[in-house]
Amino acid sequence: MSSSSCDILIQGGGPVGFACTAWILQKFPDAKLTLLDRNPINDDDLANTDSRGIALSHGSKLLLDTINAWPKECAHIHRVHVSQAGRFGRALMTREELNQDALGHIIRYRDIHITLRQAIRVIQAKSPHFTWKHIHKDAEETAIQAKCIVHAEGGLFKKQDWVESGRDYGQSALVGLIEVENASSHQAWERFTAEGPLAVLPSHYGQNILNLVWCGSPESSQQRLQLSDEDFLSELQKEFGSRIGRFLKIQDRRLYELGLNYRKEITKDNEVWIGNAAQTLHPVAGQGLNLGLRDAFLLAGKLVGVFSGSAEDQSSVNLQNALHEYTQSRKADRTTTIVLTDFMARVFTSNLAPVVFARGLALSALQWLPPVKTALAHQMMFGRR
Ligand SMILES: Cc1cc2nc3c(=O)[nH]c(=O)nc-3n(C[C@H](O)[C@H](O)[C@H](O)COP(=O)(O)OP(=O)(O)OC[C@H]3O[C@@H](n4cnc5c(N)ncnc54)[C@H](O)[C@@H]3O)c2cc1C
Repeated sequence: MSSSSCDILIQGGGPVGFACTAWILQKFPDAKLTLLDRNPINDDDLANTDSRGIALSHGSKLLLDTINAWPKECAHIHRVHVSQAGRFGRALMTREELNQDALGHIIRYRDIHITLRQAIRVIQAKSPHFTWKHIHKDAEETAIQAKCIVHAEGGLFKKQDWVESGRDYGQSALVGLIEVENASSHQAWERFTAEGPLAVLPSHYGQNILNLVWCGSPESSQQRLQLSDEDFLSELQKEFGSRIGRFLKIQDRRLYELGLNYRKEITKDNEVWIGNAAQTLHPVAGQGLNLGLRDAFLLAGKLVGVFSGSAEDQSSVNLQNALHEYTQSRKADRTTTIVLTDFMARVFTSNLAPVVFARGLALSALQWLPPVKTALAHQMMFGRR
């Protein structure tokens, strides 16, 4: 058992913990900061890990650009087509009508992770009091005294060792990479099926290689995972239709259980929770990591304010005030994102006739009421300020 001390301890070497570390060190290279990471030291050992496509918003791109952590391998979304399988109601959002370069960007989870690790290595060279400590689950015990502990342990729904408030949607997401015959470039599709949303998103591999996120009941998702490639593609084709031609190939199928798990309080004494350690969301609106990055960015600013100051600035009272301000500043964005995502996850999965009808109306309203569409897109891209 080893023992050491620092001002800030960031526990969790995922995208949110790394981003927070980088923003603190970039603004205040002298920070006495320790980062605990459970992943392998070598990036090559992450090459075959989590390949799921993650939608990052333009707001997240602007944030990651500030620390040179925007992955090179990325696909841009210029149009999103939303519809209901076999029912009325559809909406199309384009970058032109929202006056943006892109509506979002799709990047593999592991590429976000690795690019952030590389950005930290560059920043590390100028940060004399930064320690990046690799720990191995159950194999090493660490006792580090810290003035502030940032929890960024993240995790997936049902795999987290804390459960506070939330909802089990009784749904799993089957993700994979598909090849199709005739996709339009830079187009994303979100289709609401009887069992949940089915998203087909661009990838950086080319116009006809797309990321699939197919939500369904845990039982049918498990069955789909086990189907032969041929049977899987035929089921998918039935559910999605022929808008992008035939489905030709599927690879790298993985399953994730979905739910909402969030903490009522995100700070306590000298501890603070960010990213998935604070809230784990359904991916229907692609908001989890986007929200976590905004958590990390705002927290970094508050902690720099405390620890770059005089001994008096660094008092525990001052730290607690800063954490209180942080909680207040995250309230609106966090609540709106959790409520909106939960609403979408429930409404777009219900098969009750009135809900199906209202959903069709809502999609039509989105299509025909540009201010509603713009407001929704703005929330998705930048969060609530
Ligand atoms: C199917 C699916 C699709 C998704 N799609 C999107 C999307 O399109 N857009 C979006 O914004 N979000 C999406 N998300 C959500 C997104 O993946 C998460 O919000 C994001 O990964 C959270 O990042 P994090 O760093 O908080 O946690 P994690 O990604 O879970 O990383 C936490 C890291 O901390 C490490 N760790 C754990 N405990 C410790 C410890 N004690 N000490 C040290 N290290 C520790 C873990 O090994 C892990 O590497 C999706 C999620 C799923 C399941």
